[in-house]
Amino acid sequence: MARRKKIYEGKAKILYEGPEPGTIVQYFKDDATAFNAEKKDVIEGKGVLNNRLSEFFMTGLNTVGVPTHFLKRLNMREQLVRACEIVPLEVIVRNFAAGSLAKRLGLEEGTPLPRPIVEYCYKDDKLGDPLVTEEHIAAFGWASQQDMDDILSLSLRVNDYLSGLMYGVGIRLVDFKIEVGRVYDGDYQRLIVADEISPDSMRLWDIETGQKLDKDVFRRDLGSLTDAYTEVARRLGVMPKQATHVAKPKLIN
Ligand code: 5GP
Repeated sequence: MARRKKIYEGKAKILYEGPEPGTIVQYFKDDATAFNAEKKDVIEGKGVLNNRLSEFFMTGLNTVGVPTHFLKRLNMREQLVRACEIVPLEVIVRNFAAGSLAKRLGLEEGTPLPRPIVEYCYKDDKLGDPLVTEEHIAAFGWASQQDMDDILSLSLRVNDYLSGLMYGVGIRLVDFKIEVGRVYDGDYQRLIVADEISPDSMRLWDIETGQKLDKDVFRRDLGSLTDAYTEVARRLGVMPKQATHVAKPKLIN
């Protein structure tokens, strides 16, 4: 049996060389990290849930004409994606004040924002992904002005799509992070949504109760992370109605 070539291992995923040139296999791990990996744990079943949820969101985006890297799901933990050149930015879209924005500007968590606010962080774990402005992005050449226009419109389209989808199942999309990749078609370059879209990279609050259904459950020790993600998957119809989270097989004597 031939060993697959590992391209990269991150905090929550492993990337392997795909079966065709220009493809990558994305493996979702159960590892959970927060505060730049200062808090770590293994949450059984998280990788399976995020693989399914990211498939669901990316497929939906592809269907409504927002291009993503997603090609197909391969199994419980792996999906085939299009290889792309990752723009070294985390693009954050916020609809309500929470997390670092609430802290930075002294806003109460949950305050509605006058309009969606898009922020950029430079992707560098060693620096803790610092917030940067378009001035930094242009000066250091991380993305061109055309890229920035495309990234803004892409992220707002993702926000419209995800907000509507979540609202339909009684969930408020407070904020989320996406990553964007460049693909080349002949003489042209296009930007597509890459990485993952899952409750690891979003803030999701139940509209009625305010219950948190995202990674803040882990960050702030609010209970079972898999229960929260399973609830999101159940409401979206991604998992069967009665499903509890997927556990390891049990040995029956
Ligand atoms: P904040 O800046 O408030 O910490 O995060 C804003 C949003 O972006 C949250 O939904 C958060 O989950 C997401 N986010 C920010 N940085 C990262 C990151 O490095 N990884 C992931 N998965 N999500 C992030």
